[in-house]
Amino acid sequence: MESVTDNLLKVKATLPPGVGLVAVSKFHPAESILRCYEAGQRIFGESRVQELRVKQPALPADIEWHFIGHLQTNKVKYIAPYISLIHAVDSPALLREIDRRAAACGRTIRCLLELHVAAEASKQGFTPAECRAFLEQGEWKAWTHARICGVMCMATNTDDDLRVRSDFARVRDFFDEAKERWFSHDADFCERSYGMSHDYPIAIEQGATLVRIGTSIFGERTT
Ligand SMILES: *Cc1c(COP(=O)(O)O)cnc(C)c1O
Repeated sequence: MESVTDNLLKVKATLPPGVGLVAVSKFHPAESILRCYEAGQRIFGESRVQELRVKQPALPADIEWHFIGHLQTNKVKYIAPYISLIHAVDSPALLREIDRRAAACGRTIRCLLELHVAAEASKQGFTPAECRAFLEQGEWKAWTHARICGVMCMATNTDDDLRVRSDFARVRDFFDEAKERWFSHDADFCERSYGMSHDYPIAIEQGATLVRIGTSIFGERTT
């Protein structure tokens, strides 16, 4: 069996400069995370609050934890003291709660707006039209402890590369529009988080700045 460290280094070798790697460690044990940490990886992604609450105190304090899954408003408080980036902000209410909890901890939490561009109705996120309306409305400007740093998406789960490419391209276009209209003087608005194990080469071609890779590093998840 190949080691997670070998897998990590192989994946990293395929990433061009400027593309950050979120090693998605959900459902994998703390020991596997530590192997990657020892090989230099610092950014890890988790998608369940319960699991992160167990792993975070057990692992090195300088790990940058990214929350990549759907986050329930009532669970923000558990991760607010340490979370480094919340990828999938899918409602104004969630962003407002992140602001509130971050302020209470004396922190600023970086956030990405999740866009729903996939064909599956089950996926979460703002439609581009909803996201545009939210940004235009401007209430978020007062939420200074929740910092909007870019956009995130999951592409349609399909073998059709053309569809995947067009999902990512829509999100890239939305990023460019938002940058120009609302964030032109904001250097923090710079992240495009898309691409997983099976589609990240297309994501990179379409301008991803962060890719979220689990299976290609840690192997198949058993749960
Ligand atoms: C699990 C997950 C990933 C990683 O998926 P792999 O196919 O294992 O690389 C990426 N993004 C999100 C939001 C996930 O939930």
